[in-house]
Amino acid sequence: MFDGPEEERLRILDRAQALGAEFIDIEWDIRADPFIAARGGKGVIVSRHDFQGVPDDLSSLLRQLRATGAEVVKVAATMERVSDLRKLLEQARPDGGSVLIGMGRAGLATRVLAGRLGSRWTYAGNGIAPGQVSATRLLEEFAFRRIRSDASVYVLLGRPAADSLSPAMHNAGFAALGLNAVYVPIESRDLEDFKQVAGLLGMAGASVTIPFKRDVIPLLDEVAPTAAAAGAVNTIAIRDGKWIGMNTDADGFLEPLRQRLPDLAGARAVILGAGGAARGVGLALRLEGAHVAISARRPDAAQLVAHAIGAEVAPWPPPPGSWDLLVNATPVGSGALRSETPFAGPFDGRLVYDLIYDPAPTRLMRAATSAGCEAIGGLEMLVAQAERQFEIWTGRRPDAGLFAEAASRAMRARAV
Ligand code: NAP
Repeated sequence: MFDGPEEERLRILDRAQALGAEFIDIEWDIRADPFIAARGGKGVIVSRHDFQGVPDDLSSLLRQLRATGAEVVKVAATMERVSDLRKLLEQARPDGGSVLIGMGRAGLATRVLAGRLGSRWTYAGNGIAPGQVSATRLLEEFAFRRIRSDASVYVLLGRPAADSLSPAMHNAGFAALGLNAVYVPIESRDLEDFKQVAGLLGMAGASVTIPFKRDVIPLLDEVAPTAAAAGAVNTIAIRDGKWIGMNTDADGFLEPLRQRLPDLAGARAVILGAGGAARGVGLALRLEGAHVAISARRPDAAQLVAHAIGAEVAPWPPPPGSWDLLVNATPVGSGALRSETPFAGPFDGRLVYDLIYDPAPTRLMRAATSAGCEAIGGLEMLVAQAERQFEIWTGRRPDAGLFAEAASRAMRARAV
């Protein structure tokens, strides 16, 4: 695609024509007729890019583009909402005469699920168009060549979701079992039309992440006790057409911990932070019989979470000698704060569990281990909760190490 003055674009098309290009791609707003006529429509794509959003009258737009006689019509439109994906899916035709692309991070699903959208092909590259992902990522993380148009679709619903490590893990799991299934992020501003989109995709299951873990609950037919207790759903299983909300975060958190501290009853746990993760892991620890205290920079927030899960409030930072297990449930140590630590010591407890998985190890973990404490990183939790999800959906536990290796590989690829 070349974006420039019309005369310039026509000259490039002439040149492509003279060179015998297999396909020429013509934006709808320039005079395509001579090229279409010269080729009898064959090898011509007529495209419409819409950076404002997916048009409501998509079907009439596609009709107009098809009326040009071009072999392939292409619509690439900026996507932000689940309802935008619905509009594209409703226009899917299996005849290979169109390409439907959602631009932007939210459009990743349309690139991965090209077959389901009836798209003749998809596009990959290093961000040449908004939301485009590299061919390597499409082929390796999403196993693009394995995806058949009738593949079972599992969804990650969240915002942000496009850079999640979950597709790498679940798609590796599907490939290892030889299943005709794919896992794809749907990054959205809202949940409007999610049920309808799930129906159009024949969605087989979903992961739910921030900010929808609570908001998704009204869409469910049942909520499992673990999810009800946490007040948050991170997994949707579909059984006999019923949507069942579950939560594998607590199991995912506890599994690596139990390998180091088999008996949590009576252990003194201090959790740094008072957000969603603090609440979830705090509850999991309480149910294991640990004494839990919440330490947060805002004492009122600490009080709120402590009250909700039957824990105590600890000072920020927690005083010396006050914990056996210290859990970091703040983002301090990741992203823009990656060179910082939420706790400066002393490390006089047994184990530090940092929920952050990137970087690995964090500054907090390094300080803890050099002071003789054991340390667990967030990747182990991320992997364990995903393994449990996969088991809920497929009835099979992934082979040991498969998800951890897939997640680490994807993380290394992101860092390049
Ligand atoms: P959240 O709901 O936004 O809560 C974050 C908490 O950290 C809040 O209490 C916040 O306090 C506090 N905080 C933020 N910046 C701070 C700073 N500079 N200094 C001190 N406290 C600060 O987030 P969340 O969902 O609970 O997640 C927390 C962390 O856990 C994230 O890094 C997330 O990636 C990680 N996590 C990992 C996994 C896993 O599988 N490994 C799962 C869940 C979460 P204020 O309210 O005062 O801002």
